[in-house]
Amino acid sequence: MLKIRLFLLLFISARVLGSAAQSELPAAFQPAPRPVPSRVQYNSGIALSIYFASLAQGGSGLIGLAGVDISGAQFRFRGAEQPFFSLGADAWYALIAVDMDAPPRSYQLTVVVQKDGDAVSFSQDLLVEPAGYILQEFDLPADRAYLTDAAVETAELDTLAALTADASAEPLWDAAGFELPLDTPLTSPFGSFRLLNGARETRHTGWDQVAPVGTPIRALAAGRVVFADRLEIRGNYALIDHGLGLYSGYAHFSELHVTAGQHVAAGQVIGSSGNTGRSSGPHLHWELAAGGRWIDGAAFLDLWLPAGSSSAPER
Ligand SMILES: [Zn+2]
Repeated sequence: MLKIRLFLLLFISARVLGSAAQSELPAAFQPAPRPVPSRVQYNSGIALSIYFASLAQGGSGLIGLAGVDISGAQFRFRGAEQPFFSLGADAWYALIAVDMDAPPRSYQLTVVVQKDGDAVSFSQDLLVEPAGYILQEFDLPADRAYLTDAAVETAELDTLAALTADASAEPLWDAAGFELPLDTPLTSPFGSFRLLNGARETRHTGWDQVAPVGTPIRALAAGRVVFADRLEIRGNYALIDHGLGLYSGYAHFSELHVTAGQHVAAGQVIGSSGNTGRSSGPHLHWELAAGGRWIDGAAFLDLWLPAGSSSAPER
């Protein structure tokens, strides 16, 4: 009975979201066009470009700097100061990531640029809009019910925070950019509120995709594997550092095909999907973190991104 209820829920969400995903996500398979900035602010010969009109909760967006003799730049938005990265040719970029819990309203973005021994400052108000997260109810089989324990989840998130604390200072992705880990419909969406076994409330940190046990799963982008082992909730799990604070994680594998420390190419098969950990049926759960926050990975795949390496062409 419980299984039927869950299956129906997954089936319904797959139907609803599958059609939406197919119409909204083709950009994941093609280079997105370089966007026109929605806003440009000038100060002391430097242009700050903002490549989005607003951000959703759990969303992400690029900002850029152009100007000569820039030696470094940092921004602050709802959290700790973070650096811009240089791609040569006097172009600097940063990715702004919004946590899924950010109350929807305007927040101040501040940017400080080092140029010729001076500090040049910018300030902009950025609007965070509600994402409209849905509620999902799941029932876990009795032998996995202990995985609804809040302490288990807290310990696992602490493990992941430690693994992602030392981000590579260089972009590790390449001109192939970021693409979906497999071509099946997206089902349970990022950020959903979840009620497990009728009692435990939690949030969905990634997206789920249809994946029978044994389906080959591809790395979203080039990077370095920082973890390939078993976790309680995520089961057999691979975590890849793509540089500059971007990490992708892949959960519930039946088999892992990579080891920690290994470099992987974009699209390289890193494991076979499965049903390990806090899972109520075979599927792929994948997630994306930026700047220490879980972000909507499907929305991120739609972003135009500069190529990770300054020697590589833009995607
Ligand atoms: Zn999931």
